[in-house]
Order: sequence, then structure tokens, then C-alpha cells
Amino acid sequence: MNETVKRQILDKIKAYDTILLFRHKRMDGDCVGASKGLRGILKLTWPEKRVLLIDSQQSDYLAFTGPADQDVPDDVYRQALGIVVDTANSDRISNEKYSLCREVIKIDHHIPVEDYGALNWVEEKRSSACEMIADFYAGFRDELRIDRDAATWIYMGMVTDSGRFRFEGVNGETLRLAGLMLDQGVDIERLYANLYLENFDMLGFKAYVYEHMQRTENGVVYLYIDREMQRKFGLTFESASSAISYLEGIRECLCWLAFIEPAEGDPAIRVRVRSRFVATNTLSERFNGGGHALASGATVYSREEALRMIDEADALIKAYKANHEGWM
Ligand code: AMP
Repeated sequence: MNETVKRQILDKIKAYDTILLFRHKRMDGDCVGASKGLRGILKLTWPEKRVLLIDSQQSDYLAFTGPADQDVPDDVYRQALGIVVDTANSDRISNEKYSLCREVIKIDHHIPVEDYGALNWVEEKRSSACEMIADFYAGFRDELRIDRDAATWIYMGMVTDSGRFRFEGVNGETLRLAGLMLDQGVDIERLYANLYLENFDMLGFKAYVYEHMQRTENGVVYLYIDREMQRKFGLTFESASSAISYLEGIRECLCWLAFIEPAEGDPAIRVRVRSRFVATNTLSERFNGGGHALASGATVYSREEALRMIDEADALIKAYKANHEGWM
């Protein structure tokens, strides 16, 4: 069935002169890699087509990947095929004008919650949307072209969304496709430097996180990053959000949560939710969110609601530990 939809996607791409690419809000390495990588493949294969990636949102962390394309008049959208990558529901698409497109295709690896495309290629077992783009390229290699840049963006998304090939969903096929991308000449040392070097000042924040993080009785680690803390360390909302990664990897703490207070006047406190062994996306769903089993997000509107969420997480971990063996 996936083979059929992939072929249908290729046929649609061939049929359009203009193709617009879309991705999700609060961009990450996977949606940036998938959109830029696919744009590269399409432009190289069909230089005569107009292929654009239009997104006014920005990310400091991913600034090294370069800017998106300039916006175009609505008329261009109306003639175009839209391809949305890595986005489970239409509310999360960063450029709302995607809906003007004559037809829309969805390519995603999240739990399917909304078939907003005329064609929907969704494989929730894939470790990243970039893995799907690499698979698309591999499947039609005779017809498609790729270069080092496009392969670099695709490889970047595979690396970032899989936690450097550590997370659930990574299998032999993931590594074979990653290998195919590396074969195009990806400069791994430079890519990893761009992705993972830390600023000296951020290490002060990291130390602060380790001093102030808290743990519940049953092993939920959490930290509330208020505006004061963000001011003190000169953090953007994005860099404050990266604190979630500092909380992982603590023995017996199967779930970790970072609450990030937004700018003054915005009531929506972002919650980043991560876990190992135990699925926590249902927890996020109860707090205005969702996502993958082990990596999801939610929104709470007060410190009290944050505390309720921590309590529910603790109860979830308690129940899991009572009924399972082998967790660490
Ligand atoms: P993040 O912590 O933002 O990296 O999100 C982890 C995963 O959860 C991503 O795959 C997101 O698509 C998903 N996610 C995050 N926030 C939400 C939300 N409010 N609603 C639905 N899914 C979300």
C-alpha cells in the first residue's frame, strides 16, 4: 500500500509545475531536513519546475541550514501542489496558506490523527520524516537526483529525530538509508559541530538545571523554567526549551518534563515530555497536546495545572513500574 501511495506522489509531483513545501511550527531538525532535502531532490531532478519552501518562522539552532524562500502571491499557491512533511495535524502547519494549494500531500511519521492531504503517506514506525524522504529517493533512484546538500539535510533529520540513532523505530533500514545519504558525501564533522557544539554560556544554564531539577517519588524528573531564569541566562524560548535534553538519562527516572514559561502576557506554558520504556503521549493528550509515545508535547495554563500534570506523570510511572520488569 505504501508503494502505491509513493508512486502516486511521484506522479503528482511530475504533473505540477509549481510545488510548495510545508512543515510544522516550532521547526526541528527533522521537518527542516525533510523539507529542504525534498526541495533539493525536486529541484535537481526537474530544474524547470518552481519548487519553494515558504516559512516565516525561524530557529537560532537551525540557522546554519539557511533561510526559507521568499513568499509568493496567493495565485501561485492556487496553481501549486503542496507537500507537507512531518506534521500530524493541519493546525501545526507553520504556513497557514498551505490550504490555498490546489492539492495537498501529507508525508509524516507521527500517529495519524488527521488525513489532511489528498494523498497521505503516513508511516508511524519510521524513526523520522527524513527517513521517509530518503526511502522515497531510494525507491525512485533511477528517476530522481540528489546531491551532497540535499543528502546532508536528510541525514540531519535522521540523526536529530532518532537521538543519533538511539530511539525506538531505528532499524536496519534506517541505517541503510542513512548510509545511502552518507554516500553522497555528507561532511559529518561539520554537521555534528553545527548541531551539537554548545555555547560556553549555555553550560552555566546546564549547571543550573542540574542543581534545580526535581524528582517525584516514583521517578519523574522535572524543571519549571520561569521567565526570571530565562532572563538570568539570556535564553530565548527555544534555547530554554532545549533543557529537556539535560534531564534525560537518569537511572530509574523513566519520565522527564520541562515546563517553559512564555513571554509576559502569553498564558500557554509549553511542556516538553519525554520518557523511556513507558508511553507518555496519552499524558500529553490529557493536557492539550500529543506526539510520539516517548516524545510528546503539551500546554498547561498555570503552575497549578503543571503540578497536576507532574502528579499524573508520577502516577503513570508508578503504575508502570508496578506492572513491568526490566526497566532501568
Ligand atoms: P517537542 O517537545 O516540541 O520536540 O515535541 C515532541 C513531539 O511531540 C513532536 O513530534 C511534536 O510533533 C509533538 N508535539 C509537541 N507538542 C505538541 C502539541 N501541543 N500537540 C501535538 N503534538 C505535539
